[in-house]
Amino acid sequence: VSIEHSRALLLASRISGLDERTLEQRQEESLVTVRVDPGIAGAALAGRVILTTLRRLPGRLALDRTGLPSTTVAALDSAVATIDPRRPLEVIEAPAADAKVRIQVGVAPTAGHIRVVPDGSGAQLVGDPALMPHPVHRPNALGSVVAAALAAAETFKHVVVDNEERRTIHRWLRFCPVALARHPDAARPLKAAAIDIALVGCGAIGSAVALILAELRLGGRIVLCDPERYGPENRGTYSLGGDREAREQPLKVDLSAAALEAAGYETIKVVGTSAELIKLVDAGEVAPPRIVLSGLDSVPARRETQMLFPDHLIDMATGDTAAGLHHAVPNGPCLRCFFPERAAGPDPLGELAAATGLPISRLKRGGDALTEADLAGLTPEQQLELRSLVGQPVCGLAEALGLTSTDAEGYLPSVPFVSQLAACLGVGRLLAVVSDIRHEMNFFQLDALHGPAGGGDCRRPIDDCYCQQRPAVVRQLRRRRWPGGELS
Ligand SMILES: [Zn+2]
Repeated sequence: VSIEHSRALLLASRISGLDERTLEQRQEESLVTVRVDPGIAGAALAGRVILTTLRRLPGRLALDRTGLPSTTVAALDSAVATIDPRRPLEVIEAPAADAKVRIQVGVAPTAGHIRVVPDGSGAQLVGDPALMPHPVHRPNALGSVVAAALAAAETFKHVVVDNEERRTIHRWLRFCPVALARHPDAARPLKAAAIDIALVGCGAIGSAVALILAELRLGGRIVLCDPERYGPENRGTYSLGGDREAREQPLKVDLSAAALEAAGYETIKVVGTSAELIKLVDAGEVAPPRIVLSGLDSVPARRETQMLFPDHLIDMATGDTAAGLHHAVPNGPCLRCFFPERAAGPDPLGELAAATGLPISRLKRGGDALTEADLAGLTPEQQLELRSLVGQPVCGLAEALGLTSTDAEGYLPSVPFVSQLAACLGVGRLLAVVSDIRHEMNFFQLDALHGPAGGGDCRRPIDDCYCQQRPAVVRQLRRRRWPGGELS
């Protein structure tokens, strides 16, 4: 099992119950074809992200070049080659009879294809040949990446996931991460304004955020914060970096900065954790951004990042196949309310039982998927939290709920499209914030293999949280960092 595929295979193995070698072989034997209809707005970017994302996973990959000009074919070929030149893109002239999955970025039905099309900041995916997607909004880069991530997820379901409880094969899926609904909200248009933000964590999620922001070309300043270097294993799960980066191992902030600077952003790189960023802010060396996006994989790192107390802390999370959004504000719920400190105990099962309401006897059957029946005895809040995780094995719940604090070195199973979906949720919320689109929902979660299904909630501050116990200190911190600024 190659190192860059190991995390994806671990995840696939957990889902399918098959061993990693059997799975890798099955994936390597499966041909996936992608067709990009010319003349569809946002299709070229969606096609590129689908192909480069699938190239990070095992499997045969072909571009059906029907209707595409040679320049587009060459550009897609070279984009895929930067990820892995030893597994080049096949280019075919017509649909392949032996394909396991055929993806089409387009509207008009072609026999045997799953169609996907960007729509505003979101996308539509149509698996039923009798249905016609009808995008109504001019797509932006976020819509193209949503389309790509949904298409990659659908592909993964067909190639890897046999267990029907673990997947929903969509006839017609529509989702907009700005509206957190099926459709973009036409009544509340986006403002295309320059941004001034920090991105804490340039890993699987952060690199996907950098990719989307680069393609959105909003302009402005982005402070990038991450202490690590890119490693060979990151090629299989990140949205930036390929063959060269796997060999040269640049700093992760440099990789994201390169993509953003090429798109016209000013960047400031902090090689460290958010504690380092806060130090630089309080020393007057970095002007503090009012909006922070975080893509972190531990609870302590999230709690530390909250101590900046920006106007908006938009946290993105992944666990197993779940992608989540937490939108924290200084008066609460802050990110510490979302991720309360738990008494250090040696009993993870007891902790999970307390957090979910599920009995320990049930949690011990970790391999069995969570069912609707399991939710029956729980409170409405507990049910809401767990409903989007129905179908997942119970042993993955702690991660999906952000209850584990595996550090960056931890070996988390992951696939790139789950992190991309988390990044889409975060960038969607960023666009909502800068466009003055207010949301009641400050928590949202979806399972990449089931699609968004009402996984939103309005969380309240926690009484014994720092933000509620020390409001004067928070106000003072914020006045010092943003003097004269309006307190939101
Ligand atoms: Zn709080």
